[in-house]
Amino acid sequence: MADTTSNHQSDYQINYRGPRQTIYDLSVEGRSCLQAPQSELPQLDASAISGLADYLADSTEGPSLPHVTETDIMRHYTHLASMNFSVDQGMYPLGSCTMKYNPRLNEDAARLPGIANLHPYQSTSSAQGALQMMYELQNDLAEIAGFAATCLQPSAGAHGEYAALMAFRAAHLARTDGATARTKVIIPDTAHGTNPASVAMAGYDTVTVPSNADGLVDLDALRELLNEDVAAFMLTNPNTVGLFEPRIIEINEAVHAVGAFSYCDGANLNAILGMSRPGDSGFDALHINLHKTFSTPHGGGGPGAGPICVSAELAPFLPGPIVDYDAEDDQYTLTMPERSIGRVRSFYGNVSVMARAWTYIRALGGDGLRDVGRQAVLSANYLRVLLEKHYQLAFPGVCMHEFVLTGKPFKDATGVRTLDVAKRLLDYGFHPPTIYFPLLVDEAMMIEPTETESLADLDAFADAMIAIATELETDSETLHAAPYTTPVRRLDEEAAVRNPDLRWRKQ
Ligand SMILES: *Cc1c(COP(=O)(O)O)cnc(C)c1O
Repeated sequence: MADTTSNHQSDYQINYRGPRQTIYDLSVEGRSCLQAPQSELPQLDASAISGLADYLADSTEGPSLPHVTETDIMRHYTHLASMNFSVDQGMYPLGSCTMKYNPRLNEDAARLPGIANLHPYQSTSSAQGALQMMYELQNDLAEIAGFAATCLQPSAGAHGEYAALMAFRAAHLARTDGATARTKVIIPDTAHGTNPASVAMAGYDTVTVPSNADGLVDLDALRELLNEDVAAFMLTNPNTVGLFEPRIIEINEAVHAVGAFSYCDGANLNAILGMSRPGDSGFDALHINLHKTFSTPHGGGGPGAGPICVSAELAPFLPGPIVDYDAEDDQYTLTMPERSIGRVRSFYGNVSVMARAWTYIRALGGDGLRDVGRQAVLSANYLRVLLEKHYQLAFPGVCMHEFVLTGKPFKDATGVRTLDVAKRLLDYGFHPPTIYFPLLVDEAMMIEPTETESLADLDAFADAMIAIATELETDSETLHAAPYTTPVRRLDEEAAVRNPDLRWRKQ
């Protein structure tokens, strides 16, 4: 058993092991949460209603619910929640995911009755406040990213990618009077997995362009792939190894020269907020993850929002409805863009996520948003400098909001893998970084601290990583068996995938 007493966060872990009981194990016959008074109505005579007596006789077993008190329920689920690691408990430096602190002010806004109790079939005249909020958010995002128009409807980053690709298709068809939408979309080998998935969903073929030794787009290789069959090029900027493409203007000019559209995966917008606008560097469209940069809690599968911003040429093809303002009547209205690709989901999108983003933008203002970007980049570089003496950087030099380490030297020397380092970090009270992504880096660890970690927390994380680096040299056995302090240790991941056991059954 390894000594984890140096863990600065061990105080938070007192409850971490806890009983591993299900709510059914807590069940005691006769216990109940229900304190309802005795009914004053006369007892029903079941025999008076045809078939009811038989039905009641057949269904005496009832549903198999646990017999527990209200306190039992509250404690049980609060305990389960405490077994989960979250950004509210500690640093969660999951690269490419922007797991930052979400100000509670945003939650207040999302819970205002005018937002929380909205009904999608309500008349627009009775939802003017919500529509105004959406209209302003559309404009804010267009301004922040440097585009002409925004659609808030897509529910995730991947969904935004798909919607933009469909708009590209419609625009290509419009340009050629329906003759061709072209067939290929080019993507760098560092791309997030959603990019090729969205390309396939939109009916295009993926062509991969390799990165050069610096982790950037190989412009010569890109030029060779570009031709009249190419519908679009998709690029994440800053890319998923945390580097800003210095030749972005040239890249976009080359894409436009063959009549293709250039798409920016804007999931990493956190890094450039208030400093650089993708629309200004020649992109035609981008999606923004409101649930990353604009501070909606995520990781539990939703809800999220992946609005897309587009150039003036693409604006008529946006999905809809989008919110418009009629100055004459002083009314916010819902309209379909002129040549819309249609709806990409029911109704208008995840309005509560929009309310959080609107509040976040207003709480910070322009200067505050710029500070977010600067601080995110500064924090990442601070950690990079502390760690590069102990771990090998995949791409040396200044990074943006995240950086990638490679565990290859450790694997070669001691057999300890990046997975072992990640598991060991759990004992030190930190969520591990993203591992084994991007695929082009062997034994990758991708670290994104975000702007919401204090200097003390950055130092504590670096200390833990450095302590593990020492263990890597002296005590690789400890690392192979980590973690030691979590409710479950190493899981048989293959069995979990092949034979999942997901449902409680009565013994
Ligand atoms: C998170 C992310 C996405 C996908 O966003 P979802 O909301 O999870 O669909 C796409 N690209 C990059 C670079 C990302 O980090």
